[in-house]
Amino acid sequence: MSGWHIPPGPGTALVTGGGSGIGLAIARMLAAAGQPVAIVDRDEQAGLQAADHIGAGVAFYRCDVTVEREIADVTRAIAAELGPVGVLVNNAGVGLLASPMTLSAQGWDHLFDVDLKSLWLCAKHVNDQQRSLGGGAIVNIASIHAHLTRRGTFPYAAAKAGVLGLTRSLALELASAHIRVNAVCPGYVRTPPMIEQYDNQADPDRAWGLLAATQPMGRIAEPQEIATVAAFLASDRASFVTGAAWNVDGGLSAEFTH
Ligand code: NAD
Repeated sequence: MSGWHIPPGPGTALVTGGGSGIGLAIARMLAAAGQPVAIVDRDEQAGLQAADHIGAGVAFYRCDVTVEREIADVTRAIAAELGPVGVLVNNAGVGLLASPMTLSAQGWDHLFDVDLKSLWLCAKHVNDQQRSLGGGAIVNIASIHAHLTRRGTFPYAAAKAGVLGLTRSLALELASAHIRVNAVCPGYVRTPPMIEQYDNQADPDRAWGLLAATQPMGRIAEPQEIATVAAFLASDRASFVTGAAWNVDGGLSAEFTH
């Protein structure tokens, strides 16, 4: 990423799910831009390791983003210790390989709690802090599944499509407070859940090769390629971008096959 400087956004950046994958890459990029970063994750070991690895200016806060009380506590602690949150990156998410005919109601609720409801709760609990700074930015990590989906991944697409609706609503509600709200829709990204899924196939090399062959660019994304776009949307360089959803999918959603 040499030769292109992303300026830090306002205040502290809070990155949910910052202990791994895309969130970790975003936390690293925002910290490199000089912004204090709070990594918020339910996985204590991963979060501590991530904060330690990135170094100065980054702190880890354990929190399950499905529990509103924990979000309230953690956002208060972040403001007191790192300063008010100006940038919220709602990245924490879980996938599910389920069928609509066999999924339990609890399974549905958990996925929606993490992948959709937590984004609203986090936005709600940083709102006063963002207003105290005169504005800020929220970046919601959605997915290509918000637009197109595949069999056997229910109800991920429904939750991620909801993220785009939430992004539009919050963008309009918060525009007058100078808080911009945007979404990023990644295609396939090389993160631990993807690596685990493909490395555990009977013939991993073949599985990775077949996946690459389905991609217009002949490869999947690295987490930093999503982080760059998220960091741009979080920064003042994107000062007139709000309510938008940016595909970062290597052209996957531009193509239909058969
Ligand atoms: P990941 O599993 O590497 O990271 C997700 C992080 O979220 C983990 O550290 C996990 O502990 C944390 N987390 C999960 N539930 C939580 C909870 N209740 N409270 C707090 N933290 C929680 O996954 P990733 O692939 O980096 O995915 C990050 C985001 O990107 C997700 O929203 C995912 O849906 C989205 N996404 C990923 C891909 C991909 O191909 N990897 C593609 C499109 C969208």
